[in-house]
Amino acid sequence: MRASRVAATLGARVAIAESGRFGGTCVNVGCIPKKLFSYAAHIRDDLRDAADYGWSIAEPAFDWRKLVANKDREIARLNGVYERLLTNAGVSIFRDRASVLDPHTVSFENKTFTAKHILVATGSWPHKPAIPGSELAITSNEAFHLERLPRRALVVGGGYIAVEFASIFHGLGVQTTLAYRGARLLRGFDAELGERLADELAKKGILIHLKTNPAKIEQGLQVSFEDGSHGGFDLVMFATGRKPNTAGLGLEAAGVKLGADGAVLVDRYSKSSVDSIHAIGDATNRLNLTPVATAEGMALARTLFGGAPTPVDHENVPTAVFANPNLASVGLSEEKARERVGAVDIYKSAFTSLKHSLTVSTEKIFMKLVVDARSQRVLGAHMIGPDAGEIIQGLAVAVKLGATKAQLDATVGIHPTAAEEFVTLREKSA
Ligand code: NDP
Repeated sequence: MRASRVAATLGARVAIAESGRFGGTCVNVGCIPKKLFSYAAHIRDDLRDAADYGWSIAEPAFDWRKLVANKDREIARLNGVYERLLTNAGVSIFRDRASVLDPHTVSFENKTFTAKHILVATGSWPHKPAIPGSELAITSNEAFHLERLPRRALVVGGGYIAVEFASIFHGLGVQTTLAYRGARLLRGFDAELGERLADELAKKGILIHLKTNPAKIEQGLQVSFEDGSHGGFDLVMFATGRKPNTAGLGLEAAGVKLGADGAVLVDRYSKSSVDSIHAIGDATNRLNLTPVATAEGMALARTLFGGAPTPVDHENVPTAVFANPNLASVGLSEEKARERVGAVDIYKSAFTSLKHSLTVSTEKIFMKLVVDARSQRVLGAHMIGPDAGEIIQGLAVAVKLGATKAQLDATVGIHPTAAEEFVTLREKSA
């Protein structure tokens, strides 16, 4: 969408072939509906906390179908907005799946079209491990349209989607189990974040089984795990990663090199092994986040049509996991920073928010700064707690600009907020 729009604005004649709904995974079965569900799930905590702030609220009841219907209405509105944005920019829309015939020819709607440039932005698709009975399990694609909420759900995986959906199901009243094959959630994030998030999720009542993976699912959703344990569920959801959606597009026949996982292999300018074919977003399996794909699309349009070759900068991309509590990060984990620069100073703090000084919640906010011991540059900022994404987004500017710890210290905090802790951390913890 972004590549087409910017390219058209820069004077290119652009056509899009899209067989699904506009907006891709993010708008239809990803970020947007997920965040709406996440708001719904968080409201349960707010309702509980309300009593400690003097409110009496009758026993709350939750209507899943109403949430899904309201969400669907909003997504349909966004689909329309996106389509109009394209049309208004002068992009021609073809409602079909395309395949590439050669470096300059594409086929859709039973016709062939030629183009100077072809862009593959076909995203990714959930991947289920091939265990017996895996067809009985759903993925995030189906989770957005469940007829009813299950009583007991098993979520498999330890990444973004697993912890987000475990939090959503649990918040909406589902008895939720999270099974992850590894020893720590959110591999790739700062190790402490995965450990602390597991503690917070468990405190809220999610059953977390680490080093556990399903081996077999039988009718009635009886799940046997590799460690010999068993469990019965009403819904099993695999959140076990996504794979680039590049099969059947004719890419390899056209000479485009794909990686083992199906990702289009591209250079810094998103160019594939064929000069006229480019690829962006999850189809390239670089950093699979919507704003990164958008940045890649914008950079590509400038490169091809704006006379300004623009590589994509994948350093210091902030990211948030909308679990309950939220988690967000920018820059390097402590482990990666030690690998890259050797000596690091670590500053961290775990505390109860002012809000929860009046409530029964035992939730702790966690903040951590990773600082290069030599240059004193802040290499990473990490947080678990309410609105972590909102807070880290601001801090990401400082990290991207190369701020030092002294510059953070020289910044006056906003009181009373949780975020002020990031500019008042004084005691080194390592
Ligand atoms: P992730 O790559 O984040 O996590 C996949 C998880 O599944 C990992 O814990 C992985 O374990 C596990 N896994 C992989 N294969 C198997 C298997 N065969 N059996 C058991 N477990 C397995 O993928 P997600 O599906 O959660 O999300 C896909 C991507 O979408 C994310 O990486 C992210 O880029 C993006 N996303 C971003 C969001 C955001 O910005 N808030 C939200 C949701 C998704 P292991 O670590 O051991 O390999």
